[in-house]
Amino acid sequence: MKLKYYGTGGGYGLPEVFCNCRICRHARENGGKDIRTRSMALLDGRLAIDLSVDTFHHCAFAGLDMTKVRHVIVTHNHHDHFFTTDLFSRVKGMGDPVNFYISEGAGAAVRATVEKHKADFASGKRDPEAWTRAEVHTIEYFKPVEILDYIITPLPALHKSAPDPMIFVIESEGKSILWAHDTGKFLPDTVEWIKNSGIIFDFVSMDCTLRRGAQITQSHMDLDWCIEMADLLRSNGNADDNTKFALSHIGHLVDRTHDELTEEAAEVGMIVAYDGMEIEI
Ligand SMILES: [Zn+2]
Ligand SMILES: [Zn+2]
Ligand SMILES: [Zn+2]
Repeated sequence: MKLKYYGTGGGYGLPEVFCNCRICRHARENGGKDIRTRSMALLDGRLAIDLSVDTFHHCAFAGLDMTKVRHVIVTHNHHDHFFTTDLFSRVKGMGDPVNFYISEGAGAAVRATVEKHKADFASGKRDPEAWTRAEVHTIEYFKPVEILDYIITPLPALHKSAPDPMIFVIESEGKSILWAHDTGKFLPDTVEWIKNSGIIFDFVSMDCTLRRGAQITQSHMDLDWCIEMADLLRSNGNADDNTKFALSHIGHLVDRTHDELTEEAAEVGMIVAYDGMEIEI
């Protein structure tokens, strides 16, 4: 599997619009890997993980071509992961619908909007060629779904302000990824499912939103909690020496520049994702 991170920022991206802290100033002055847009990643150019408010930016400036993507799995409905306005822009020549896979709670609003659009097409009120065709599929915790040749298993995330938030186990071609963003420390049921699955992950992408040691919320992680989760996966037999751990969902709260965090993460054998990073798994 080939994974490309398009957006690796936290909820407000980096630099934050009105912020003049050291990290935001550094990002403004130096650009490069310290500029972080909001969450989006693409597997093998055809399966998207989240579709944030910065998807427009990814299409305009980072070479993303969403006309080729027909499947999107959604972790939760915060704007930095799922921004539905772009979905209802006018389209021409779209062909197949875009399929969204989302939890019941997180998908309620977009499901209602999609149904209304479908009713408008059916009644002739709208030109069916002129609006995004979307299908919204409800996915459930612990129930694997097959999308293209991937098996995706949604697991509960600890992310209190969003309805039914999910992290994902993604398996394909004998390889496996744990996509764990916008979650605090893994919930007991999630850990149990992973342990029982017997999966040894090739790649784990973890939420590292918070400054090390400043765990101001249970719904995200800092480097210490990421280390704890990596150790837990190892001790449960779900990670080994070949497992790569990456940190993402990074903003100014982490209080480290990309280089500083990269150095700190390297000490514990982890890498730090950046916008545009590609990984062969
Ligand atoms: Zn987020
Ligand atoms: Zn700042
Ligand atoms: Zn969130």
